[in-house]
Amino acid sequence: MTGGGRKGETTAARRGETIAAQAGHFIDPASGAVTPPIQPSVTFARDADYALIDPDFNYGRANNPTTATAEALLASLEGAEAALLFASGLAAASALFATLPQGARVVAPRVMYQGTLSRIKQMAETGQIEYALFDATEAGALEQTVGTAETALVWIESPCNPTWDVIDIAAAARTAHDAGARLAVDSTVATPVLTRPLDLGADVVFHSATKYLNGHSDVLAGVLVSAKADDAWQRISDARWLGGAVLGVFEAWLLIRGLRTLFLRVRRASESALAIARHFEGHKKLDAVLYPGLASHPGHAIAARQMTGGFGGMLSLLVTGGREAAVRTASRAEIFLPATSLGGVESLVEHRATIEGLESDVPENLLRLSVGIEDVGELIADLEHMLSGAS
Ligand SMILES: *Cc1c(COP(=O)(O)O)cnc(C)c1O
Repeated sequence: MTGGGRKGETTAARRGETIAAQAGHFIDPASGAVTPPIQPSVTFARDADYALIDPDFNYGRANNPTTATAEALLASLEGAEAALLFASGLAAASALFATLPQGARVVAPRVMYQGTLSRIKQMAETGQIEYALFDATEAGALEQTVGTAETALVWIESPCNPTWDVIDIAAAARTAHDAGARLAVDSTVATPVLTRPLDLGADVVFHSATKYLNGHSDVLAGVLVSAKADDAWQRISDARWLGGAVLGVFEAWLLIRGLRTLFLRVRRASESALAIARHFEGHKKLDAVLYPGLASHPGHAIAARQMTGGFGGMLSLLVTGGREAAVRTASRAEIFLPATSLGGVESLVEHRATIEGLESDVPENLLRLSVGIEDVGELIADLEHMLSGAS
């Protein structure tokens, strides 16, 4: 695949932040423009011999130059051979699950992003896949759950919603590979700024690009990247082509725009989240602060090894006094916006059990914070104000 501004050949050895800032050292050969153009055409013409003018582009459901530029960027940020963008995160995850053999076994954490878990359960209802869940906080639980049953895919998330448990990706890759399974990592929260799962042995990396990759809460998108452009990858590519869950071209362009500041945004969010976690650890209105950057977090040692340059912008507060105290705390926010989702430049506070509904195992007193890039002193003051009305 070309793309990457069609000039991406020289970027491979560069550091991620240089690649991201320049959209892959993009220079438009037609005009000299330094930002990638939006190419909305759904069809691509042929020459006098009836060969495609550019063999990479034929019809918009198969591929598009703007989308290919975004995909090449994402592949180089993850150190991948190939990347595919989809209309949402769950469309990307669904394509991966749908291309497993009929009835294939998937092993995943018991606590993880609820939408993906719901999708796994839904596909299991019709017999497309089977699944087994493990407790990510228990040593040896993944090996035990994989066990001796034939397993096609181990799906993990790290840090894991909404407790930010950290899973040892290199160890998970060994466990999966020893069992003949592939390892897919939902790296939405870590981003390629903080973790590169393929370097640690993962086969496929997933992102809800809706979150940090785009970063401005205005695009819904998902991406899969693969260490190898192998047969399994070709099946996923065919599933997108024939399933039709492609990303719109304007969204692909906005995603490229967002990626240019990915490193700045993620580093800033990580620094502020760490400052907030340290400030509120031991606070009299809180039972706990869950953040992998705190030495008290059970995943801290693995996070310190596995994550580079920060622990991410997500943390959770367990508010003393239960559900009502937590909801009241969230409703007093004046800077944090009371909304679901994560990874945008604006800080969000969410009562997670309300969002997940009746089936949720999330503690009733948990508030999930997505830390943005605002003034951290004002964020801390807002949280102090919110907690002052907690009980
Ligand atoms: C949002 C999210 C998803 C789902 O992505 P969509 O873009 O909403 O479909 C999956 N995993 C994680 C960790 C998420 O935060």
